[in-house]
Amino acid sequence: MTELPGRTAAEVWVLVVDDDEDDAQIVRELLAGADRTRFTTKWACDSQQALAVLGSETFDVLLLDVRLGPDSGLELLQQLRASGLAVPIVMMTSTTDPLLDDLAMAAGATDYLVKGRFDAVLLERTIRYALSNHRQREQLAAVVRRQNEILGTAAHDLRNPLGIVQGYATLLGERLEQIPIVEQRKLLGRIGESVRFMVMLIDDLLDLSSIESGVISLALEQVDLRELVEHVAELDRVLARPKEIEIVVEASDRPLHARLDRRRFQQVLQNLVGNGVKFSHPGGEVRISLSEADGAIRITVRDRGIGIGPEFLGQIFAPFARERGAGTQGERSTGLGLAIVRRIIDAHGGRIWVESEVGVGTAFHIEVPSANDVEARPA
Ligand code: ADP
Repeated sequence: MTELPGRTAAEVWVLVVDDDEDDAQIVRELLAGADRTRFTTKWACDSQQALAVLGSETFDVLLLDVRLGPDSGLELLQQLRASGLAVPIVMMTSTTDPLLDDLAMAAGATDYLVKGRFDAVLLERTIRYALSNHRQREQLAAVVRRQNEILGTAAHDLRNPLGIVQGYATLLGERLEQIPIVEQRKLLGRIGESVRFMVMLIDDLLDLSSIESGVISLALEQVDLRELVEHVAELDRVLARPKEIEIVVEASDRPLHARLDRRRFQQVLQNLVGNGVKFSHPGGEVRISLSEADGAIRITVRDRGIGIGPEFLGQIFAPFARERGAGTQGERSTGLGLAIVRRIIDAHGGRIWVESEVGVGTAFHIEVPSANDVEARPA
């Protein structure tokens, strides 16, 4: 379908389908005089014309007469819904007939108005409410779609480690005596590794879903980000030691205060630094720098690792986005970390973005409002 020419976002495009030209004209005049919404209307006098117009143009709302000469508005309604047209359709009739009302609702009508019993205000409000409900339904459908995708990927990602656990457990159960003890340990190690990955995946999934469903409640307090960053660097040095990756902190002497949820922010930083380590080769460096400008504190976590391809950069914050399955030394990867990070930063009113070059390295930047001008006080 093509857009109507000259269409603007603020306008609401209405197709009036009515066999009576006078009735259609009345409706169009009422809409033209509406105060709160700017309407642009088009008229179709029967089913055929309506279908032809809808085949080439997009409308936000349809006002559909129940009687269309020899045609039935209800049949057209059913036909349109069956063809997948989702926009709100408000039925118009000349009588109040409860049966008709029920039939229209069952056929997918959004609302029902009796001709001669509505004025510009009621008509405008009916359309506005119909549009708002429609938008909410679409948003809900998008959430359900996204949740289903997440569920599908999670189930898929759990299959592999579950298969490993099942296979090795069966092997050990059936042939324990024949398997040398060293080999038994190795198999048990693989089982343990798979179970740890599954626990990590499920923990991340639960965390993401609790954040998605709006349960994220931030315990905001005044935090000196220099201290928090030092703390995270200290924790992650343990993680980075086997790969001999250095974690460097670069900050001014001045405290950098922000109002944050300390635990959640630590989670964010550990994730970014952890990724820096995971996607760097041994002997690399992860540098966390802090600065303040224009009322915001910026934290940059930069590594000299493998980098991220330009085609993948745009989707990096989506759940289960992974460029390859593992880190430079086969470290496991769920693809949920950055999706969680993004939501936590959003909840803080901050922003996060990424710059990267393959083979050169990656920098994640975070900005949160500074609370340095507010006198530091205990939470
Ligand atoms: P995970 O690390 O568990 O895979 P994330 O959501 O944290 O989950 O990261 C998603 C993907 O983004 C990673 O699998 C990796 O492909 C890419 N990525 C994230 N951080 C980096 C980085 N510092 N360097 C290179 N690639 C990265």
